[in-house]
Amino acid sequence: MTTLLEVRHATTGYGTIQVLWDVNVTIPEGVTVGLLGANGSGKSTLLRAVMGLLPLWSGEVLFDGETINHWDPSRRVRSSIAYMSEKGVIAALSVEDNLRVGGTGLAAREVKAAIARTWDDFPILRERRRSPAGSLSGGQRKTLALAKALIRQPRLLVMDEPSAGLSPILVHEMVETLRRVRDQYFVTLLLAEQNSTVLDVAQQIVVLAGGRKGFDGPLDEFRSRTDVAAQFFGLSAPPDVPSNERPAND
Ligand code: ATP
Repeated sequence: MTTLLEVRHATTGYGTIQVLWDVNVTIPEGVTVGLLGANGSGKSTLLRAVMGLLPLWSGEVLFDGETINHWDPSRRVRSSIAYMSEKGVIAALSVEDNLRVGGTGLAAREVKAAIARTWDDFPILRERRRSPAGSLSGGQRKTLALAKALIRQPRLLVMDEPSAGLSPILVHEMVETLRRVRDQYFVTLLLAEQNSTVLDVAQQIVVLAGGRKGFDGPLDEFRSRTDVAAQFFGLSAPPDVPSNERPAND
């Protein structure tokens, strides 16, 4: 299988506070990876580094075999890496205009075709096409965020807690939608989550604990390892977690 995304020795943080410590992650094309970890373990930080929203102090991000450290976030989005976040939905704009914003830079006919495809794939959005995004329910807004992220038919879709704020029933719906989308769009998914229901969609699990990578392996193996589950739920810290001070010579 081709490697689509590779994070090599990623080290980064905010100001002088180090958050990630030498994290390595390899994602084959077509595989759904669930990134797990307790609050503050560094999941969002890793996703930000992948999207170019946070520079690495050291290490490398490779996409399709190419180093992309020097690519800004918009170049990454234009180059088939999408980021799903609720902040990406603009409340004052209609559903359709939000999708248009997602297609910024594409030719008009491509945007038209992408929007037509979206109406077929997400009928609820067609029904609400002229409504301001701010008037949508929480579940519908998530669907819009997902559809907007898919508008360019990305090869990699990075998602930060897609289940956040959803009721258990809606989380199940989200899992079903992600399964459908993955098969239909042939998209590789990297999703950071705390909700174990969402794990059902993952094939590979990567666990972060204290900003370091712990477990990394198939979902079945993850489920059978109680020590890893303990890490996931934040019940124990891995050994030798260093203090959060960035080394002075960095
Ligand atoms: P959560 O699920 O709670 O978002 P997470 O695993 O995604 O957790 P991060 O958001 O990556 O964790 O945060 C990792 C650490 O970095 C935390 O200690 C957090 O306080 C710190 N942090 C996150 N964002 C910033 C920021 N903008 N400035 C300073 N520190 C930050």
